[in-house]
Formats: sequence, structure tokens, C-alpha cells
Amino acid sequence: MGSLEIGIVGCGIAGQAAAGFLADAGHVVTLLERFEQPKAVGAGLLLQPTGLSVLRALGLEREAVAAGARIDGLVGENQWGIKVIDLAYGDLHPAAFGLGIRRTVLFDLLNRRLLGAAARLVTGVEIVDVEREGARAVALDRKARRHGPFDLLVVADGSHSALRNRVFPRARAPLYPWGCIWATVPDTLASGAARLLRQRFADTTTMMGILPVAPGAVTMFWSLRTPDLSPDRPLDLEAVRQEALTLWPEAASIVERAIDAGEFQRATYRHVTLPRWNEGPVLFLGDAAHGTSPQLGQGANLGLLDAHALARSLAEAADVAGAMDLFAARRGPSNRFYRSASHLLTPFFQSDSVPLAILRDLLLRQACQTPFVRPMLSGVLAGLRRGWFSSDSLDADGRYPL
Ligand SMILES: Cc1cc2nc3c(=O)[nH]c(=O)nc-3n(C[C@H](O)[C@H](O)[C@H](O)COP(=O)(O)OP(=O)(O)OC[C@H]3O[C@@H](n4cnc5c(N)ncnc54)[C@H](O)[C@@H]3O)c2cc1C
Repeated sequence: MGSLEIGIVGCGIAGQAAAGFLADAGHVVTLLERFEQPKAVGAGLLLQPTGLSVLRALGLEREAVAAGARIDGLVGENQWGIKVIDLAYGDLHPAAFGLGIRRTVLFDLLNRRLLGAAARLVTGVEIVDVEREGARAVALDRKARRHGPFDLLVVADGSHSALRNRVFPRARAPLYPWGCIWATVPDTLASGAARLLRQRFADTTTMMGILPVAPGAVTMFWSLRTPDLSPDRPLDLEAVRQEALTLWPEAASIVERAIDAGEFQRATYRHVTLPRWNEGPVLFLGDAAHGTSPQLGQGANLGLLDAHALARSLAEAADVAGAMDLFAARRGPSNRFYRSASHLLTPFFQSDSVPLAILRDLLLRQACQTPFVRPMLSGVLAGLRRGWFSSDSLDADGRYPL
């Protein structure tokens, strides 16, 4: 296929990565972003071996690793200090690792890459609708301006996508009843040295996480009910302080710094279900297509993999329709698995169910201690699953083969 005119809605992780790959491949790419000044929203996140391989393909892995914090595994303890979750990338390959990284750092890397490619970035345009013009698609912004027509319009406007229901009236994206607040603070506990994402939870109503995201910095997560995260409602940080100090007294210095700084950002999540990934020349990517709760730490990684798979599918197919089929075959299985698995797991960590907490503590603890099961769970964490019964493997160097 020759060069296409491609529009991308949303300058987030998935949109930026797609723009970089597609512009490199010689397509004429226009990225449409609602903010005047595109920016990262949120604190830090965990990149899996999958996402790191995509950054490598974009030529960004080295810089990301230098700026982030290497993570060797995930440890989750309950309120009695009993280790319920204990997973390590080393179960899969001695050289495998995840990477905690500030969102601003990842954003800047992708943004620089995008601006270095021949993609055009148009800011301050909020896209509210999509129209078909024969085989092509036009994006309409809030001021009724038309952008396009494009041979392919990629919608990567995130989990709260405004376009999803314009294109798929029967798409569903209910809000989860729980979300979280998160902030990045100095690593006063020297947590980076342990190279772990650590979580602590009591029942299913109280959960805190600490993720090293840079040398000397960690992101703290605290679980809250969605109504308490409403933008017009002040956060009760004093209650968070009391509960967090009771749950995790050893982390007091981090909790105190985060509360005193008062710079928590609020996050709510949606569970997105689309009937398919594309409608003619309009393709959904990233959270807009398969957003879910971040319980398994996969969303950004899936968005990066989507971006890579799209460029590859366009390179291999004879036309846009063929590329959409190839993309669906490539990305469908793992996107569906992680969306379902995250959804299934979420009430074990964020709900009002005492029985689920008991089951979690018994079963997960047992599973993490059982040979054969533990590596499978580490594979889930690393982003390797393609379904309930199938998985990819890391290559001989411990990297995810794209
Ligand atoms: C608390 C929390 C922790 C997380 N932790 C992890 C983790 O550890 N690992 C991981 O992989 N994932 C994690 N995630 C998930 C991850 O943040 C998302 O999957 C990822 O950001 C999705 O990227 P995206 O590009 O699809 O969407 P977004 O990053 O949401 O980007 C969407 C872009 O579209 C723009 N936009 C929106 N609407 C319009 C419009 N109408 N017109 C034009 N532009 C528009 C937005 O301004 C934004 O720039 C976490 C999420 C949360 C909330």
C-alpha cells in the first residue's frame, strides 16, 4: 500500500506512538489534540517488557530506562503483613524487567519522537464527531471545523472517549465504582533499591501502592470510591493520612510527604467494550478501544503494542480494510484477555466484599507459591498473555519479540 493520509485523535501514549510509527512509514499523519498544550495526566506508571519493546522500536528505550526505575517484581501484602502476591519478572527470564516511569517523562520522550517524525500536530481541537465521505473519514471539532478527509482515522482519545458512542452507539464503557488518587513524591524510604512495585491492602476497601518511577522518586497510589473523586468534591486528605498510616506505618514518610504536598491527581476508570475495533476507515486504539481498571498495569503497554501493530498491519496489507483485519487478528486476543482479566480481578482489590478479600488472600498466596502457576502469573504481569490458554514468550535476551 502506498502513502495514506491518516488522522489521529488524541495525543496520549497510544496516539503519539502511532503517529511516530506511521509517519516513519511515509504516511501523511495529522494528530488532533484537544489541549492547546498537550500534556501528561497522572503520576507514574509501570512499563512491562511488552511496552519496553515498543519503545525500543521507536528508539526510545535507552532514554526511558535511564530516566525510570527498574522494577524486578510485584509484592502485595495484606494488613497483617502477610505476603499475598509475590511475582518476579525473573521467573520468565533472568534479564527481564519492568520499568517504573513518570508520565511526564514518557510523554516528553514520545512527544519529541513525534515532532522529530514528519507528523503534523494540531492542538486546541476537540473532536466531537466523525463523518464518512465515501471510503474516507472526516473529523469534526467542537467549532464545526472539518479535519480531513483521511484514508484512515485513528481514534485514541482515551477511556472517557467522546467519539466511541458516535461511531458505535452500542459501545459500553461504565465507570468502575472505585478509582484512586496518585502523586509522585521523593523516595524517602529508598524503595528504588528494592526494585519492587509494592502494594498493601486491607479487606477490599483499602489499598495503597508504591511504585519507584525515577532515581529518588516514587508514585503513591491510594484507592477511593468514585463518588469521592468527583472534581467538585474536596478530597478528605486527613482521612487518607489516618488510614494510610494505620495500613502501612513503615511508609509514613512517603504518606506524609504526599499528603503535605497535596498534589494528588484523581483517576477514575471505565470498562470499555466495543463490538469491533474499527468501523470502515475509523479505528479505535488504546484506552478508547479497551480501557479497563489499571489493576494489572497494562493499559499503556497495550496502547503501545496497538500502535506498533497498526503500522505493521498497514505495511503488510493491500488496502485499509485488509490492514484492519490484520490489526484485529494481531491485537484482539491480548486486548480482550487483559480487559477481561483486569475486570475479573478488580473487585478482589476494590469493592465492598469481605469474602472476596478472604478468597484473594488464600488463593493468590497459594498460587504465588506454586511452581508452574507462579511463572504463569508473572507472565500475566509481564503482558505476555494472548488469552486464557495461550501466551507469548520472551526471546533469548529476555525481551518481548514484536
Ligand atoms: C491510576 C492509574 C494507574 C495506571 N497505571 C498503569 C500502569 O502501571 N501501566 C500501564 O500500562 N497502564 C497504566 N494505566 C493505564 C494507562 O494510563 C492508560 O492505559 C493509558 O494512558 C492510555 O493511553 P491512551 O493514549 O489510550 O489514552 P490517554 O493517555 O487518555 O490519551 C488520550 C488523549 O486524547 C486527548 N483527547 C481526549 N478527548 C479528545 C477529543 N475529543 N479530541 C481531541 N483530543 C482528545 C486527551 O487530551 C489525551 O491527550 C493506569 C491508569 C490509571 C488511571
